[in-house]
Amino acid sequence: MQSDQFSALMRVAERPPQVFVSGSGSWLVDDAGRRYLDFVQGWASNCLGHSPPELTQALGEQAQRLVNCSPAFYNEPAARLAGLIAEHSCFDQVFFCNSGAEANEGAIKLARKWGATHRAGAFEIITFDNAFHGRTLATMSASGKPQWEALFEPKVAGFPKAPFGDLGAVARLISQRTAAVMLEPVQGEAGVIAATREFMRGLRALTRECGVLLIVDEIQTGIGRSGRLFAYEHAAIEPDIMTLGKGLGGGAPLAALAARDSVCCFEPGDQGGTFNGNPLMTAVGCAVMHALLAPGFLEKVARTGDYLRLRLEQLSSWHGLGEVRGQGLLLALELGSDSGPLLVERARERGLLLNSPRPGVLRFMPALNVGSGEIDTAVDLLDALLRQH
Ligand code: PLP
Repeated sequence: MQSDQFSALMRVAERPPQVFVSGSGSWLVDDAGRRYLDFVQGWASNCLGHSPPELTQALGEQAQRLVNCSPAFYNEPAARLAGLIAEHSCFDQVFFCNSGAEANEGAIKLARKWGATHRAGAFEIITFDNAFHGRTLATMSASGKPQWEALFEPKVAGFPKAPFGDLGAVARLISQRTAAVMLEPVQGEAGVIAATREFMRGLRALTRECGVLLIVDEIQTGIGRSGRLFAYEHAAIEPDIMTLGKGLGGGAPLAALAARDSVCCFEPGDQGGTFNGNPLMTAVGCAVMHALLAPGFLEKVARTGDYLRLRLEQLSSWHGLGEVRGQGLLLALELGSDSGPLLVERARERGLLLNSPRPGVLRFMPALNVGSGEIDTAVDLLDALLRQH
């Protein structure tokens, strides 16, 4: 295809020339028939790889039965998926939506409504430096991305920021205006920075003591990515609100806001959306959840994550690079120089898709069912690239 065929697409990203036409498991194919080993997987959303049979079967069957009936009516797959999430988490009620940012908007609204009705009008939500919560105006305001500071002013007010990991700073920001504290258990876009278990536990204790809510944004970390179904489980805590996206739909647009009964204060009319909880997407979500909950699946993700970490650590020691960090199959390799974007480009030319969320970092987010042979292929290719570098 000629690149001018894409001129009607609004330019919101610098895209490489490849045009992808099909995919299967860990592999993508472009319009020239070239195969690429995909360690980006739709930005960590294709948790079962490209076009897995579970997903295509659920889509096909549900599409023939019922695509959409209106969010003002009950449908069976939505109820089933909400039940599955509630059964396997500490949350009681679920609201479905179409993107992670929309789920976080819902969490912000729910916390503000809760603050208005249960905490004398409290509305502030404390968030963190370098956080990423989405691209709507409120979620950009909640994010702590330095490059966004001057964009789309004025921002939505009410998101004081603390340094990530600094419990004392959070304590100093909590006031009568505070409704909640919101964080990513692993800050993905910031370069894969995991909150420590002590920080997560400290935040839970502090928010309980001060009578404010704890919100975990598990859009990137949830649905098995961390090696557990939800990353908050690593800290053995129970947050009040959680948001999900990405992996929940296995690549199809599905997200969710989950909350404990005591926090669920929306009244009819407060929240909604035309496509929210439609049976087509929630049937896909059920198929994804069943695949993840199959005996041994999550244990295997944790083992595969350990293997990828080991191989990246070898690569790092061979080439004098930096730290390997993250959880499960959300890992990063510190490069020690700003070579990330160049390496991503060179790797793509050689048939490996990677991501560099910061110039000095490579991020790895393969399918949760990636094979150890595929990990070896990726590491060997990177090794060869680094030798030439
Ligand atoms: N929150 C986190 C932690 C994310 O990683 C992302 C996307 O990368 C979002 C929110 C936004 O999700 P979406 O792009 O589906 O709106």
